[in-house]
Amino acid sequence: MQIVFASSEAVPYSKTGGLGDVAAALPSALAARGHDVTLVLPYHSLVWPEHRLPHPERSGPFVTADLGERRVTGQLLTSVVPENGVRLVLVDQPAYFARRGLYDGADNCERYAFFSHAVIETCRLLGLNPDVVHANDWQTGLVPALLATGARERVPNLAGTGSVFTIHNIAFQGDFPPEAMPGTGLDGRYFSWEYLEFFGRLNLLKAGVVLANEVTTVSPTYADEIRTERFGHGLDPVLRAKEDRLTGILNGVDLGTWNPTSDPMLDHHYDVDSASEGKAANKRELQTLLGLPVRDDVPLFGMISRMTDQKGFDLIRDASAALLSLDAQFCFLGTGAEEFEQLVRRLAERAPEKVAATVGFDEALAHRIEAGSDAYLMPSSFEPCGLNQMYSQVYGTVPVVHRVGGLADTVVGATEESLADGTATGVVFEHYTADGLLWAVHQTLKLFADRTTWSRLVRNGMTRDFSWAASAAKYETVYERAAAGVAEPAS
Ligand code: ADP
Repeated sequence: MQIVFASSEAVPYSKTGGLGDVAAALPSALAARGHDVTLVLPYHSLVWPEHRLPHPERSGPFVTADLGERRVTGQLLTSVVPENGVRLVLVDQPAYFARRGLYDGADNCERYAFFSHAVIETCRLLGLNPDVVHANDWQTGLVPALLATGARERVPNLAGTGSVFTIHNIAFQGDFPPEAMPGTGLDGRYFSWEYLEFFGRLNLLKAGVVLANEVTTVSPTYADEIRTERFGHGLDPVLRAKEDRLTGILNGVDLGTWNPTSDPMLDHHYDVDSASEGKAANKRELQTLLGLPVRDDVPLFGMISRMTDQKGFDLIRDASAALLSLDAQFCFLGTGAEEFEQLVRRLAERAPEKVAATVGFDEALAHRIEAGSDAYLMPSSFEPCGLNQMYSQVYGTVPVVHRVGGLADTVVGATEESLADGTATGVVFEHYTADGLLWAVHQTLKLFADRTTWSRLVRNGMTRDFSWAASAAKYETVYERAAAGVAEPAS
């Protein structure tokens, strides 16, 4: 199949969260399965300078988009990712994308409208004949919309191209005032409730959901949840209307990047058989690095996260006094809400022998925390898929999670039964309250105290298959359905 994958971020060129990991790993897994894959990204030249690109072609074609009153031009930089053969197309438009923060700016609607037009133009200008264009999150929600509203007729090589739209997080919808509509370059008649309009506003995520041939999200449980009022962030009726076209497919782990046997960011490598010594060495190093007392006997909980309510920092705040009273260590890495950045800093000041806080984005430290922690906290209130709980299992770090979304699908809570049958990999709590979290932390301490049980949990996690291959195969099925669905009217 020929697949064009459009994303606003992908490692190593740009990343703010899980989408960046997925947009690198899934195209790579699809290419490994023999598909012809093109990855289209905005070119964030301040994040990833040109001399570090794999042989960029400055001679690439120019793209133009008419966005209301404005005609905007950019250039396509084309190359091939050496490791996996994925064709890489970077849309260079410095006024939009040469920024420190990926999503900084009041002009996000216009920026991503331009990018979405550039994805369509990439297919035309490079003569691609994709079976499917796969768009991701609100930033590329206009891609299926453009295909469904004229691009298939205008660009002959897209006549039979199916569209797939993946929701990585329904909390972020690309919601803009109605005045932004002309800047999308779409006919004003699509500003109506059946299409892009949502309660009087322009909603780019809705555009993707309504107008794509197939919609996916990143775990089976989240696919169920977003059809409910509790998790749908207002879009649950739209998802219910599309439910026969909605599939939940779990993300995988890119074992080229997240692998304790070869991780270049670690000094001590280990596998399942050497996990005990390997993790102990990484733990000592992490404790030293973070200024925590170097102790083997105390459990070290790690957490690497955007600091928001979604990720459970409200529970950490409410449980903090009780957490600090335990004989346990905690290390936090993340950025986000001022309130939570201050919270973790304050905890570290109050109990420097128990808490280390790093406010910032630090890829290397993230890897060291995964390897050096005993347990990993992920008490999210909602979690589309979540990656760190999977990385944790691959690294022999026991995840402690709220039973929601992808966390429910990827962590098997320790019970008498799951410990006996060898499936237990973590600790799972039901109630999203400080008491729920504290119950889980106490459970973890008990399990940690029993070395045999603990090593069993570590081993169970490390031997699970989180590779992308199985998920990539599921995407293939959805792509086939999307391509077949082009003959039918969208929506
Ligand atoms: P989300 O996409 O909702 O933020 P995920 O668990 O799906 O959450 O993915 C988050 C990704 O971003 C993980 O790879 C995680 O390690 C990484 N990450 C988050 N915050 C930081 C940070 N401060 N420093 C380094 N990596 C981070």
